[in-house]
Amino acid sequence: MRIGIGYDLHKIEEGRRLFLGGVEIPSERGAIAHSDGDVLLHAICDAVLGACALGDIGKYFPDTSEKYKDIKSLKLLKETVVLATESGLKKIINVDTVVVCDEPKLAPYIEEMKKTISEVLEISIGAVGIKATTSEGTAPGVASSYAVILIEKA
Ligand code: MG
Repeated sequence: MRIGIGYDLHKIEEGRRLFLGGVEIPSERGAIAHSDGDVLLHAICDAVLGACALGDIGKYFPDTSEKYKDIKSLKLLKETVVLATESGLKKIINVDTVVVCDEPKLAPYIEEMKKTISEVLEISIGAVGIKATTSEGTAPGVASSYAVILIEKA
């Protein structure tokens, strides 16, 4: 068994699209990012890589590369799982996450996020935890996320 942790943060501003957990959330503001800026999926990518001691997301998908400009983070997570599998990942036991975002309210979208993430990680929906919280107004221009993952590794 191996454990991994991940964290990500992006600034958000008006006029951009907001993606969290692979789901587009109707919002006046979205992430400023090289990719689609999905902090939840980026945190999960880092947790998967961390559990396999493979380094971080920037090592594999640099934000200086045109190849990853505006890329869907779901694609990055899929590629991350391939990298982890090549390094001995046998199966993912569960993932637990926290998303911090002042608005919009994320509760209506959490089930769809769980379903999307469970499909990519090839685990049941019941093995995906997502908690949404706010910064209590201390970081209104930011979306961030934490993720921990437990895996079985060869
Ligand atoms: Mg990121």
